Amino acid sequence: MNYFDDTITAISTPIGQGGIGIVRISGPQSLMIAERIFRPKRAVKISDLGPRSMTYGHVIDLCDGSVIDEALVSVMTAPNSYTREDVVEINCHGGMVSVRKILEVIMAQGARLSEPGEFTKRAFLNGRINLSQAEAVCDLITARTDECRRIAIDQLQGGLSEKLAELRTALVDTCSSLEAYIDFPEEEIETKTREEMITRLMEIKREIETLSATFEEARFFREGLSVAIVGRPNVGKSSLLNALLKKDRAIVTEIPGTTRDLIEDYLNIRGLPIRIMDTAGIRHSSDSVEREGIKRSLDVIAKADFIIAILDGSEPLNKDDKELLEKVKDKNALIAVNKSDLPMKISLENIEACGRKYLQISAVRAQGLEELKSVIFDSNLKNWKEEREGIVVTNVRHRAALDKAGVSLSHTLRALKDNEPLEILSIELREALDHIGEITGTVTTEEILNNIFRDFCIGK
Ligand code: GDP
Repeated sequence: MNYFDDTITAISTPIGQGGIGIVRISGPQSLMIAERIFRPKRAVKISDLGPRSMTYGHVIDLCDGSVIDEALVSVMTAPNSYTREDVVEINCHGGMVSVRKILEVIMAQGARLSEPGEFTKRAFLNGRINLSQAEAVCDLITARTDECRRIAIDQLQGGLSEKLAELRTALVDTCSSLEAYIDFPEEEIETKTREEMITRLMEIKREIETLSATFEEARFFREGLSVAIVGRPNVGKSSLLNALLKKDRAIVTEIPGTTRDLIEDYLNIRGLPIRIMDTAGIRHSSDSVEREGIKRSLDVIAKADFIIAILDGSEPLNKDDKELLEKVKDKNALIAVNKSDLPMKISLENIEACGRKYLQISAVRAQGLEELKSVIFDSNLKNWKEEREGIVVTNVRHRAALDKAGVSLSHTLRALKDNEPLEILSIELREALDHIGEITGTVTTEEILNNIFRDFCIGK
């Protein structure tokens, strides 16, 4: 039984010129609408085609019977489709006009323009995928490096869901034993059973904590590691950025939920997407516009995951440089002494005295950049292995739910140790189960769903 009785449509390919454009329709009227607007070359009826079929023909303007475009139509009947509903995909010539015109004629036949992510939302609500898999679809579309793609496809294929199902089963087992005692209050829970439950719940809690801990590093693959390049004017900030981008520019896609106004560009370092944050030079200034720029730079320093503080090695350290060193003192940062191709005038002892790591580089000669990239990667992904094993958590929503489950388990354990009434234990345990269920969507609210699917593109 499907969830929806209306039919949605959208252009599923990016707007612009291309080889083909795809307009998608999903819902109970899909086949009927396709039959009206599409004239197959072969004498076939769309609704008589098999569950997964394709046929060639023409899309017709019903106002005057003229041909809008040639098209290949894919028919995927329920439940053998992305949404588990009847789905028709019209593959026409790419370009702005054909796809838009086809969308219009479909809408004129009663389909509604879909909301962002609505096809995937239907796939979830109709039970084809769970919520963490739906989120993985979005991650896959916005993946900027191959490693990001790998993590997203693992999640889409159910890696995380299987792990969570394991944890849930273990919790449900414990919960059932507990509730059996509640149902037969004359039976006292034995000390041995109580101890076994404690051991079992501690194991589950540890597993949840291990999973949650992967977020600290894995999140960078989904959100990008934000890196700020800071330093006074003329030390070589733009030269360094350009030198890095020349070789390692990452694929640029919008990341849902991140502001773009300060982001300059994206780098790909060993599969890690790096959001380079733009900063104006930092120095003392009486100019109000420049002061505003500097204020923004200081905000960036506060927000960035990692900072590259640049000094000009061909000049002695000045007051602005010293202040910068002071500002990044307790930050996750690297000092890059630039212009190593020129005679050194900076006193490296002064930098060493602040107890900071520094690296000599030449942005214009592209020297020291590989080492610089390694430092960025290694300082932020201390536990990351090239050959990754096991499941990782990249989504802040999943991490929050795991942590809440962990807290409920701590409460359960305390109550077990304190011999509290079994009803209290059972309530806490059920809460832990609900929090884990939030991740895959066994337990969900309209608000959670709206937050998730709002970030999708239309047509997915
Ligand atoms: P920003 O103001 O910090 O962004 O500095 P720029 O990148 O605009 O560089 C300022 C000046 O320093 C330019 O003339 C660059 O060509 C020069 N420069 C930057 N990096 C190097 C370097 O590694 N060696 C030398 N010799 N000059 C550099």
